[in-house]
Amino acid sequence: MQSQDSGAIPKYSAVIPAFNEIESLPELIDRITKVFLSGFPEPQCYEIIVVYDGSSDGTKELLIDLSKTLPQLRPIILRKNSGKSMALMTGFLKVRGDYVITLDADLQDNPEDIPLLMSKISDGYQLVTGHRERRHDTLTRRIGSSIFNKTVQRSTGLNIKDLNCGFKVYRSEVVRGITVYGQFHRYIPLLAHFAGFKVGEQSVKNSPRKYGYSKYRTLRYQSL
Ligand code: UDP
Ligand code: MG
Repeated sequence: MQSQDSGAIPKYSAVIPAFNEIESLPELIDRITKVFLSGFPEPQCYEIIVVYDGSSDGTKELLIDLSKTLPQLRPIILRKNSGKSMALMTGFLKVRGDYVITLDADLQDNPEDIPLLMSKISDGYQLVTGHRERRHDTLTRRIGSSIFNKTVQRSTGLNIKDLNCGFKVYRSEVVRGITVYGQFHRYIPLLAHFAGFKVGEQSVKNSPRKYGYSKYRTLRYQSL
């Protein structure tokens, strides 16, 4: 894993909510680091904020350990499991970058797609949300999700096909202009749209979960 001087104010802030994801995090952090170091004009200007959401599997110790050799890694420790929305919001309150990238911790989102999402930001969008066209989740979840997305599209007019994809890029004014709590992480594009921001969507690759288990089980309302 490479590391560089973190004295500069970062331009890019990755925010990763993590609950019991100890196996995935080293690979994820390594891949994000490589993307930032290779793909952007000012590669030293990034930070990776991992929000430790009360895991019981040693994630906290791992993050503290990794941050000793990677100063760009900023673990944020929550006292107890508070849910994905609260973990994201806590990260949003700490970001320093002009651009904020959220990814799930489980390697289902591919960090190598960050430049693709960023290019859509360059087209004038303030929030670009990933669209998992070939989504690796159970059929039940995909059907539930499709009903949810179509209902929201029809009732609000916002043409986003995959509201709850965790992989998103924001201009920093968006994360400062919305409040995410409860289960609102599912509606972030809608919250941003209603707050007056320009929201776009970009197809991204989606991979099967490599380690661990989904925290949002099938047939629970949280599974959308
Ligand atoms: N997550 C979290 N707190 C929770 C539940 C989930 O921080 O209480 C994180 C989790 O570690 C992952 C992301 O939210 O990074 C999405 O969770 P998961 O992959 O289990 O959901 P799914 O992809 O199955 O919808
Ligand atoms: Mg997942």
